[in-house]
Amino acid sequence: MPAQLIDGKAIAEKVRHQVARQVQARHQDGRRVPGLAVVLVGEDPASEVYVRTKHRACEEAGIHSFRHQLSENTSQQALETLVDDLNADPTVDGILVQLPLPQHLDERPILERIRTDKDVDGFHPYNLGRLAQRLPMLRPCTPKGVMTLLQESGLKVRGLNATVVGASNIVGRPMALELMLAGCTTTVCHRFTHDLEEHVRRADLLVAAVGNPGLIKGEWVKEGAIVIDVGINRQENGHLIGDIEFEPAAARASHITPVPGGVGPMTVASLLENTLFAAELHDGMDQ
Ligand code: NAP
Repeated sequence: MPAQLIDGKAIAEKVRHQVARQVQARHQDGRRVPGLAVVLVGEDPASEVYVRTKHRACEEAGIHSFRHQLSENTSQQALETLVDDLNADPTVDGILVQLPLPQHLDERPILERIRTDKDVDGFHPYNLGRLAQRLPMLRPCTPKGVMTLLQESGLKVRGLNATVVGASNIVGRPMALELMLAGCTTTVCHRFTHDLEEHVRRADLLVAAVGNPGLIKGEWVKEGAIVIDVGINRQENGHLIGDIEFEPAAARASHITPVPGGVGPMTVASLLENTLFAAELHDGMDQ
């Protein structure tokens, strides 16, 4: 039996509609429409596409989006001052600084300057720490999106052996924390892992987030496993593929995400949810 496809596009659309309905309800109750500030430094074409997508998604959900486009040679101080201003702005519930920043800028102090209750990317150590301590607040968008995919597909994960391949601060690590929170026995693989195949073979739930096309062989996938491919790799012919060999993995898995159309659309959907969540945090708070 080939695996059932997890349709991230459809699930993301459902989440976006839910957010739009809640935003409308807030408006009808006389509460403020949530606001998201997106800061883009320089003209990286991929970042420009991501930022446009985020603005469009906000618009569709009825969320105000404020675009801050800064020149390539913006100074650290100017960027930090902008973050301070956005932190103090009561119409801004969420602040997102699009990464990567140009080389001369130091990312860490910028991300740590964002108010933790406006950190809708969930990258601040405070928010990662909350997730690590089982008290999630604003959760990193891509791992949160994966959890939504699992829930919306009716998949119960408590007690499963989960393997996360990739351990970055923005995907792999918070993904492992989410899965632990959900009751999985979680293994995290990274570039120093000795026997990747063995860890993949044991996984009832496999999440790949490396950025290495075909790193994970389909034949390693455990019979009946749930397979989530976060990897996005552009081939020479322009097509996108994941980190897991799709066809042979789909022949063994019970459920699998396609690339594209799996995890990809969930990140922006989670961002909208986080912005709404932040607005609810700010209700009645003298920002
Ligand atoms: P990253 O920062 O480059 O991290 C890659 C991780 O993979 C690192 O933790 C690295 O280990 C690990 N790794 C490298 N080689 C490995 C190997 N041979 N075996 C096991 N682990 C290995 O990338 P990222 O930002 O996490 O993104 C990962 C992938 O997800 C990319 O394809 C990216 O495009 C995609 N992505 C998709 C979405 C989305 O769908 N919305 C969002 C974000 C990212 P070390 O920690 O030891 O270096």
